[in-house]
Amino acid sequence: MVRIIFITGGVLSGLGKGVAAASIGKILQFRGYTVDMMKIDPYLNVDPGTLNPIEHGEVFVCEEVWKFEPVPGYIYNIAEVDQDFGTYERFLDINMHPQNNITSGQVYLAIVLKERFGDFLGKTVQVIPHVTDEIKKRILRAVKRKNPDVFIIEVGGTVGDIETMPYLEAIRQLRIELGKNNTVLIHVTLVPYLDTVGQHKTKPTQHSVRTLQSMGLQPDIIIARSNTILPEDIKEKISLFSNVSREAVISDPDIETIYELPLIFEQQNLGSLLCRLLNLEDSLHIDKLKEWEGVVNRFKNPSRIIDIAVVGKYCKIVDSYISINEALKHAAAYYNSKVKLHFLESEMFEEDSRKLSILSNYDGILLTPGFGERGTEGMIASARYAIKNKIPFLGICFGAQLLFIAFVREYLKLEEANSTEINPYTPHPVVDLLEEQRGLKSKGGTMMLGSMKILLKKNTKLYEAYRSEIIYERFRHRYNINPEYARKCEEHGLVISAYTEGGYIAGIELRDGWIVGVQFHPEFKSRPNKPSPIYLQYIMNAIKYSEDKKTGEHKLSTH
Ligand code: GLN
Repeated sequence: MVRIIFITGGVLSGLGKGVAAASIGKILQFRGYTVDMMKIDPYLNVDPGTLNPIEHGEVFVCEEVWKFEPVPGYIYNIAEVDQDFGTYERFLDINMHPQNNITSGQVYLAIVLKERFGDFLGKTVQVIPHVTDEIKKRILRAVKRKNPDVFIIEVGGTVGDIETMPYLEAIRQLRIELGKNNTVLIHVTLVPYLDTVGQHKTKPTQHSVRTLQSMGLQPDIIIARSNTILPEDIKEKISLFSNVSREAVISDPDIETIYELPLIFEQQNLGSLLCRLLNLEDSLHIDKLKEWEGVVNRFKNPSRIIDIAVVGKYCKIVDSYISINEALKHAAAYYNSKVKLHFLESEMFEEDSRKLSILSNYDGILLTPGFGERGTEGMIASARYAIKNKIPFLGICFGAQLLFIAFVREYLKLEEANSTEINPYTPHPVVDLLEEQRGLKSKGGTMMLGSMKILLKKNTKLYEAYRSEIIYERFRHRYNINPEYARKCEEHGLVISAYTEGGYIAGIELRDGWIVGVQFHPEFKSRPNKPSPIYLQYIMNAIKYSEDKKTGEHKLSTH
């Protein structure tokens, strides 16, 4: 019998509920249990693939593409999921399935299509029971796919949101149907610290627990986000007002590295409490715990700092590039280093190109993924700056395409070279739509998605990183480097280092300097204890570059 842990949020969003959920998964893994996760997103998009990262953070891509077929013949490809999936994969070292990201868009689409197909003939289709039944069916189907010991479901948004209500009702019903000892409800709230009175305040938590209770849900555990570990008297107060035992109020303080949270939960005996509530044997595997402590220590005690400029068009919120940020941190930790990320909005280089010189302050430049015209000239200019000054450079997807444009403009002297995504009328379409994308109208789930086989060329930087001629990485794109122009560039020092199995260019690099662009997204597979090979190589070169700069071996070109 699978055990289910439901996690809801209160007071406000952005509390790090995903990290808390993943940390709970981790402490169960410390006990040898198998864990799978689910994220519920109450918005009406079918998947987050059509959302701007500034709106909703990064779009994560799964290994597999799920063919969602609500009624026969209507097939939707889903591989793009909520960014919390990245957190789950990184903490738990599992590959998440796209089916485990339920959105209201999927639920309602299925119900409306079924209604048109006559599945409910004669009945009024309603939120209760039809929407709630569809939600329960999807949850149980996802549980069955892996049949883990424990299935953890994070409900997005906060209690009290109108769009979350059907999910909470479905959870209320499921708790009864599955039996008391088989489910646990955890509520994650904020306990703010008020400087003026020098106190932590529990009132927002009290209110949000009451909202939950009004929907027939009594939490078993409260996880309280706060700036510090909560004082005992505050924990007692929350316990009293929320109707949970004192040991079930768990502190979730601000910490230096998110990977430490499972250890902080473990110190508060959350693992043992969960086992008791779920009737599971509580046998902590010390070796597993120690291994994770080792990972955390690498993050906490760096011997040097590396400064990386992350140049992009969604820099307003750091979550836009969260898997990239984490992959850089994993790679740096491997070298006992810490990366300091400097997010630079590329439009600033368009307003004033003299600002490009600030790029010389960093040990490496990372050019980010993205879509659409805004900010691209600034991104191309930064790639050109990296080429000229031989600054370690990694371009990811759009970043690789823009690196290629920079190279063509610099060496083939074709200043109007561009991607047809940016300028459909460019005389030099050096990046162009993939063959299978031509004629496609629908935008949802129609990109080249998921994991694909990639063939690496020997004696390249890419090969040196992976040490294998065949690798698998995840993709999310519509456009690709034009091979005709790429071949011309080879005479000028460009190396095509990788192809997809289908023959598309998947990696480019410069013979001179450590400048690499990849059409895929290696960051999605990076784990704190298994950094991505190409990110490792990049960070190693950034470290080398930073040391050369200090000894005066690296000189900047003058403009
Ligand atoms: N917009 C580009 C494309 O569709 C790059 C996509 C990306 O960076 N993920 O090909």
